[in-house]
Amino acid sequence: MSFLRTVEVNIVGIVQGCGFRPFLFNLARSLNLKGFILNRGNAGVRLILQGEAKFIDQFLQDLKDKKPEISYIESIAVKELNNGLLYENLEITPSEQGRGISLTLPPDIAICSDCIEDMNNRELKKYYKYPFIACAVCGPRFTTVKELPYDRERTTMIRFPFCQEAEPVSCIEEYSDFTNRRFHAQTFACSICGPEYTLYNKSKEPLIIDNISKILEETSKQILEGKIVAIKGIGGVHLVCLAEEDDILIKLRTRKGKRKNKPFALMIPNIDTIQNEFFISQKEKDLLASFRRPIVLLERRKNYTDSKISQQVAPGLSNVGFMLPYSGIHYLLFEKLGMIPLVYTSGNRSSIPMSLDNDEIFSQLDALADVFLLHNRPIYQRADDSVLRIHDTKVKLIRRSRGYVPEYFSLPFDVEIPAALAVGPELAVTGAVLRKNRIFPTQHIGNVTHLETYNFLNDALFHMKRLLQIKDDEIRFITCDAHPAFITTKYARELSEKYNIPIFPIQHHYAHALGLMAENKINVDEEIIAITTDGVGYAEGKKINSIWGGEILRCSYWNYEKLNSLEPQPMIGGDRCTKYPARMLASILLNKLNMEQARKIFEHLNIEKDLEYGRDELNTIIALWEEANGKFPYKDIPFTSSTGRIFDTVAYLLGVCKKKTYRGEPAMKLEALATQGCPENVPFDPEKYYLRNASDLILDIIDLLNDKRIKREDIAAKFQIVIAKMFAEVAIFEARFKNIPYIGLTGGVAYNYSFSTTIRNEVKKAGLTFLEHDKIPPGDAGISLGQLIGGIFKYNQED
Ligand SMILES: [Zn+2]
Ligand SMILES: [Zn+2]
Repeated sequence: MSFLRTVEVNIVGIVQGCGFRPFLFNLARSLNLKGFILNRGNAGVRLILQGEAKFIDQFLQDLKDKKPEISYIESIAVKELNNGLLYENLEITPSEQGRGISLTLPPDIAICSDCIEDMNNRELKKYYKYPFIACAVCGPRFTTVKELPYDRERTTMIRFPFCQEAEPVSCIEEYSDFTNRRFHAQTFACSICGPEYTLYNKSKEPLIIDNISKILEETSKQILEGKIVAIKGIGGVHLVCLAEEDDILIKLRTRKGKRKNKPFALMIPNIDTIQNEFFISQKEKDLLASFRRPIVLLERRKNYTDSKISQQVAPGLSNVGFMLPYSGIHYLLFEKLGMIPLVYTSGNRSSIPMSLDNDEIFSQLDALADVFLLHNRPIYQRADDSVLRIHDTKVKLIRRSRGYVPEYFSLPFDVEIPAALAVGPELAVTGAVLRKNRIFPTQHIGNVTHLETYNFLNDALFHMKRLLQIKDDEIRFITCDAHPAFITTKYARELSEKYNIPIFPIQHHYAHALGLMAENKINVDEEIIAITTDGVGYAEGKKINSIWGGEILRCSYWNYEKLNSLEPQPMIGGDRCTKYPARMLASILLNKLNMEQARKIFEHLNIEKDLEYGRDELNTIIALWEEANGKFPYKDIPFTSSTGRIFDTVAYLLGVCKKKTYRGEPAMKLEALATQGCPENVPFDPEKYYLRNASDLILDIIDLLNDKRIKREDIAAKFQIVIAKMFAEVAIFEARFKNIPYIGLTGGVAYNYSFSTTIRNEVKKAGLTFLEHDKIPPGDAGISLGQLIGGIFKYNQED
């Protein structure tokens, strides 16, 4: 026994539910190692291994090199053992309820190529054309798991006991055989023992039961006839229809009510389908095909004429969101339908989360879908498709959900706080849970302005708390936005009272910056200059009447200071200015010019036609402004330094958006226009513009509109660069002056490619380090993370 070496190996990370234990088992076995593998729930995996020293070394090397793609190892600790024991077998021992701090559950994983092969193999009768096929490295995870450790009895698959007798091999045999791909897989099943689809009409009457081939035939027929089909999938339900014909898209928009222009995502059978029409970089291809299978926004090529995609999919935009099939039903459907793109949009009514329960799906989608393709596997947690776009090599997450949640972020500093909660801002919300030095954001919730979304946030937050096995008395604080009137802020106050813990409101843009700092591993003793640009966010303190959204902040983890901002503009009539950009323009002009000059431009641009109540509304705006007579704060005239409002105004001036029908619409349409333009054609001198005189830029654009030689596209392209340089210039000045090496960009405007890259280039040219998002959403979905980070430092300060 002297030549035998015995080690204890403790692995921490995302190592459950991704075929990691079978991988360990087979690796150890191939090296003739003995001992056991213990699943320690939240604490990870522990192995005791005994064997020849060189094989132990080999094992530790292969562990890093050959681990399953989906697993994520945070740490491996190896300890030599001298316990004198001799191990005769290699075993996987059952789970032990973990008490550690590590949540080790992967997100939902797209169907793998081996399973697709099995699904198409006639010899494998139990899997042939069976849409719920899965294995140890693929299939649903987050959406089916009720609690940890991750075992079948704690998933919604408990309803479907493994079959015992199927030929040539039963599910229980596959589960128990370590040489099988489904060894210890928790969410697989077959056509004998697993869930199944049924096709229903609108009256909930089954049309076809129990015959997948007939179901698919009928479903395809309905789609090809132009019907809208509700299809239940992994984390919710989708509305599916053809993407080619305007009529069908318009029907879908009409049925969705408020959805006049908001883009729909498409599912394509493979990348070749759109290769000619859209630019797809290698990075985009990799992400599209990754196990996460997100929706990736792709840029249209100019002058492509043979499009199979209706303009109604994304009216006025230059990019379209695409995803690849990620579950069995998707592949089977394309097999029947052929290689055509499909609209594949979340099946919900505007502003209400998707229903999960079949009865609720019928009632919510009654007026939207013509037929319903539903299955009988319960969905425990809702998860929308994730959405992102790529800026060169960096990922800009717009919606972080399926395929990402419940992955966590490790903070770049030690945290002794056992647990804390964050509720996010109001729009595009995620919640987040702190567990020591890890932050677990919830899936995307949406706008918390309705009871349904409020309930969704509450449910998602507490599900995450339960997964992490956090006890009530471990929660030390709760954080929220500094805006006192947000529903989420009220919710945070209730939780604070319930648990008798402090509440820390964190200013919106500071929260953006804190997330950026942590993501970029800034140390606790360092500072950054943050450019925070977005639509709306309340300022902190007494000046509640001012709305931020274009700030230069100096930030540490402890505190922040506003150094500069975009010229504040009045918003006469408050929020109406965000809906009707003409109103924002009127406000800017009244503030900048005298009445006579302003009226002249109103006349010249005929802006009253773009106000909901025409001339009357314009007169009301003017009257309210005169009434205020320069004394602010006044009634319904807040001031805003929002970058989003300036983008809206320019989008309006250039004729691409007269009324905002969804969040970000004017700015997205402006960006689409700019992609067609050439900034060099516009004789603006960027040196002439400063953050403090942004209205000069607006006036110059108005002047330029009279010059028929210059195209609107060119103005749009130039505008994005000029405004980016205005921010970069001040940030660089402050960074140099204060000897801070980092300049970061965060907030929703950071999604704009030209704006982002211009700032990045300027910062790099100045020899400073540019910080940008790659894992945390730049928009409001990233705020909950920043709130927790702000809370940690406030909590420690109070101690
Ligand atoms: Zn698989
Ligand atoms: Zn089975």
